[in-house]
Amino acid sequence: MPELPEVQTVLDTLSHQIQDCTITDVIVNYPRMIQGDVQQFCDILKGNAFRAFERRGKYLIFRMDTCTLVCHLRMEGRFYLQKQDEPVNRHMHVIFQLSDGRQMRYMDTRKFGTMELFEADHSFDLFHDLGPEPFDETFNPAYIHAFRKGRKTPLKSLLLNQSFVAGIGNIYADEILFACGLRPGRSCARITGKDEQHLVEETRRILGEAIQAGGTTIRSYVSSLGVTGRFQLSCMVHTKKTCQICGSQIKVRTIGGRSSYYCPHCQK
Ligand SMILES: [Zn+2]
Repeated sequence: MPELPEVQTVLDTLSHQIQDCTITDVIVNYPRMIQGDVQQFCDILKGNAFRAFERRGKYLIFRMDTCTLVCHLRMEGRFYLQKQDEPVNRHMHVIFQLSDGRQMRYMDTRKFGTMELFEADHSFDLFHDLGPEPFDETFNPAYIHAFRKGRKTPLKSLLLNQSFVAGIGNIYADEILFACGLRPGRSCARITGKDEQHLVEETRRILGEAIQAGGTTIRSYVSSLGVTGRFQLSCMVHTKKTCQICGSQIKVRTIGGRSSYYCPHCQK
């Protein structure tokens, strides 16, 4: 599942490719993907150009001239930029014809992705109960302290809670907790001020490095903008067998329905 760094990488890559490109036609092969009226969706987008690219949590936000297009890739969604005469496969559910002859094709084998239109100046500060962005200054130790007050949820569940902080998924939650030396199953009631500080720092460091890693990988692609977890190559703990720091065997525990990897020696 794409997490914040993958979504940011897709967005950065698209921004290099389709900035100021105008949509001349929209073909929707799977109407349920579109929130709201499909015909209206197509009509509004025609004639609009991609002007600015933003991200909120795992949502891609495309600012157009008269509207804002918001996409969520969910499990498997990805974009491809292809010439219009290239064959369309049956998993390409939404196709944006661009004025330069290319097509931006949204492919999604699982069909869980969504697209929705909003007003041109719509604010996404408050959106679907999403908490602060990890790189925003409002995500800080004092915020963590206030949020966890009265809660006993495991740290892993806290990091995955999108209303706590936006954009973190299973892989990065494990990596962040490893970097902080905190076990995923530990109650968020049992951490210190120093831990809160570490959580902020390591969240930003790890997501930042992943965005950089993704960015360098993805720019080498020409026509395919599909993005998968390339960052997994440099994971310290997620899906690993042994700890790269101490050599202990990595343990796996299910927390909140998600597999959580941790080192029993390095994480307390
Ligand atoms: Zn270890």
